Amino acid sequence: MAAAFGTVFMPEMAISWFDGSSWSPVEMVPSDSLTLHPGAHVLHYSSTCFEGLKAFKHEDGSVNIFRMDRNIARLNQSSQLLGLPDLDTEQVARMITQTVARFADEVPAPPGSLYIRPTHFGTEPAIGKAAVPSTMSCFFVLVSPVGDYFAGGDKSLRLLLEDQGMRCAPHMGMIKSGGNYASALQPIMKARNEVQADQVLFCPGGDVQETGAANFLLIDGNEIITKALDESFLHGVTRDSILTLAKDMGMQVSERQLTVDELLERAAKPGCEAALSGTAAVLAPVGTLIYKGQEYAVGTGGIGETTLKLRTALNDIQWGKRADTHGWLTRI
Ligand SMILES: *Cc1c(COP(=O)(O)O)cnc(C)c1O
Repeated sequence: MAAAFGTVFMPEMAISWFDGSSWSPVEMVPSDSLTLHPGAHVLHYSSTCFEGLKAFKHEDGSVNIFRMDRNIARLNQSSQLLGLPDLDTEQVARMITQTVARFADEVPAPPGSLYIRPTHFGTEPAIGKAAVPSTMSCFFVLVSPVGDYFAGGDKSLRLLLEDQGMRCAPHMGMIKSGGNYASALQPIMKARNEVQADQVLFCPGGDVQETGAANFLLIDGNEIITKALDESFLHGVTRDSILTLAKDMGMQVSERQLTVDELLERAAKPGCEAALSGTAAVLAPVGTLIYKGQEYAVGTGGIGETTLKLRTALNDIQWGKRADTHGWLTRI
């Protein structure tokens, strides 16, 4: 069996430290250890954020990073909202391309890829700073070769609709930060144990939002419906890419509020599809919604045609099999 997603790492990573006034020169260091003061701000007050993006090998041998600018912009935004020191955007881009270039020969061919995990966190040794930002930080770029996400089969997912609790504090939603995942863990573990759900779809107050690590899309015939951007949830780069491709294909894209009631009503119709979007899977089909002890099949309960069509369109751009008309790839 192949190694689980994200458990294999390339032996080196790019790293830089902010000492309160400037970023240290970038170094390539072994990726299996990191020395931190036990009083480091991140360990106590979760001043940490990260990104997830991928590099793809094309048939001509080139290696191409997908939507690096978008991911860097989101990392800057996460860092600012957490009160972390400002990143040097150009240095971040160089560190990403440098790390990918270092392992270019080992980037798996499609459907595999090199998963890139830039991470930024507060390192100031100051445990009294519970309500004060860290003036010091560390930024590294860790990379992990990954295989076919659907190697175990492309099964449609079961989602528990949770309309009572929420994934994280609403003002933290658009920050890709560790604490948010910790906050979603209990509801997800409970849903797995109690109703064998794969994921929880958080719908605070009946407003369909997202799962623990992916955005939610409802596809009804020619229309694709998903929550409009606000600060309560994570602005997925895959979400944006899929919506762009859907518009290219002449689909109607509706970014608006979707209630649990409307979702359940629409999902029952034949031809309706639902999917989760994120970098790891691109689009994963949703077959069943579970709400208040009842199960609702989405469309036929299987894998939707449009879901597959959109996933293929995006994969084809990533894999160099279709023209990159939106300029999403950075060739290194
Ligand atoms: C990373 C993430 C997503 C998906 O974002 P992509 O940029 O598409 O990978 C969605 N929701 C949450 C909570 C996430 O952490």
